[in-house]
Amino acid sequence: MTVKILHLYPDLLNLYGDKGNIECMRRRLEWRGIDAEVVTYTCDDSGFDLSDVDIVFIGGGSDREQKIVCHRLLEHKNELKDYVENNGVLVAVCGGYQLLGKYYKLEEETIEGLDILDIYTEQGKKRLIGNIVLEADFTDEKIVGFENHGGRTYIGNHTPLGRVLYGFGNDEKAGVEGVIYKNVVATYLHGPLLPKNPALCDYILTNAVRGKNPEIKELSPLNDTLEKTANEYIVNRFKK
Ligand code: GLN
Repeated sequence: MTVKILHLYPDLLNLYGDKGNIECMRRRLEWRGIDAEVVTYTCDDSGFDLSDVDIVFIGGGSDREQKIVCHRLLEHKNELKDYVENNGVLVAVCGGYQLLGKYYKLEEETIEGLDILDIYTEQGKKRLIGNIVLEADFTDEKIVGFENHGGRTYIGNHTPLGRVLYGFGNDEKAGVEGVIYKNVVATYLHGPLLPKNPALCDYILTNAVRGKNPEIKELSPLNDTLEKTANEYIVNRFKK
């Protein structure tokens, strides 16, 4: 089996090295004897084919970069929407997360989103920056990371990725972070999200592998001693 991972527009959306998450997915598949093929579309590419893609990854970017990339993404709005509705796996981080919603309202303009999620984002006064710890329903492992966003995202009736134990989260007030919708994981957690959170990475990979072969219920376990130790260290550091 080969899992095909499509990395969308890393030339613009790669703040804090979100790209490392691709390497993490690739390695965790390969350690289990599953091949991974990584394909990259940059803003110079005109083609767009999601037909045999198993995981789409969209990273984060500054407001300026989001403005540029939103036009490219909107050209493929229907394909991306169909992909998600047909249970395609999509991981979107920060700026990419905001672009999955209806819009991102800045002080002087509004960036149109893909309308894949029934959410919207508005720029707030101060930036929400710092470490963050979440608890999620699908794993006992806490999800740890770093957030840095000016936007506040309002997720309406969507299911969040997790409840905030430490940090700000979607809109600073609701106490939740991210969205899980079908096989979409959308989050403000930047940089090495998946290396720091092996359970989240495996949740994403399991959905992708099951999409190819529904007989496979779960992935074989890996020795995650180092990953879990690093994760727990952060959880204990910020525990109240
Ligand atoms: N530009 C967006 C914001 O500030 C997203 C930033 C990011 O991807 N870190 O809210």
